[in-house]
Amino acid sequence: MKPSIIVHGGAWDIPEGLAESNVKGCEHAAHKGFEELEGGASALDAVVESVAAMEDNPTFNAGVGAVLNRSGMVELDAIVMDGASLRYGAVAAIQSTRNPIKVARTILDERNYSLLVAEGALKHADEHGFSRCSAEDLLVGRELEDYREFQRTGRIRTRLHFSGEADTVGACAIDQEGHVACATSTGGIPRKHLGRVGDSPIIGCGGYADDRAGAASATGWGEQIASVILAKTALDLQGQLSDPTAACREAVSILSERVDGLGGVIMVGIDGRVGLYHNTPRMAFAFIEGMSGSTGAGISL
Ligand code: ASP
Repeated sequence: MKPSIIVHGGAWDIPEGLAESNVKGCEHAAHKGFEELEGGASALDAVVESVAAMEDNPTFNAGVGAVLNRSGMVELDAIVMDGASLRYGAVAAIQSTRNPIKVARTILDERNYSLLVAEGALKHADEHGFSRCSAEDLLVGRELEDYREFQRTGRIRTRLHFSGEADTVGACAIDQEGHVACATSTGGIPRKHLGRVGDSPIIGCGGYADDRAGAASATGWGEQIASVILAKTALDLQGQLSDPTAACREAVSILSERVDGLGGVIMVGIDGRVGLYHNTPRMAFAFIEGMSGSTGAGISL
């Protein structure tokens, strides 16, 4: 079948100054993954490539460009899931790592664990030859300025993060064999508590993939997303509705109605159609739908 891919660069109030780089970053990541798919790569490899490209892009809150927690540290969360085997790999609160999604990918191949946290995740990364980086390597100027303001004022405004500052990245794809996969990566919520883990690396919450339904990746206020298991909820709705946009919309309305949550979700269905929906002011995205030949990128309002 013809492959498709959709990526997001976070659902939040993207300021004008970052809009163009967000859209460009999403476009670049979608094309990178799609080239892999066209070359015969698996959906799993494609979503890892796309998300790694966004982790390398300082525009986004993932990998380089990730936010600092309250203690002035960068702790990263990521998940990748394969819809054919239902296997997943995830890391949470990992430090000193440029590409947590690639570490998560190596965990997916493990038999004895699927999610590793903090020091354990870093040990696994060391054992698999990932080189460590310093916190400064991941830090960008805008984040340092915001952190200094937090140090001055002590203010933490979680609700404002999603009308303000958070931009997790994610990708969902279907390959030529009809297999689906998802990947999600984040620095989490700015000024989060040391050790806080959001929805992103938790199966069903920040991502889920099942060859019988499709693949979904979520972004937004993690505690609320986890309460409604947003990615899996969206895929269950896709099973009923067979319309990725409608399924994402319904899932986000559950997020709003049940927990007053803020966020968004992207999806690829097993027929290769893509969809997205969010209730935040904006969400950056890009997609290439092989079957219809339609492509798109932008800031959804
Ligand atoms: N969901 C992420 C978290 O709560 C943040 C985001 O998507 O922007 O850690």
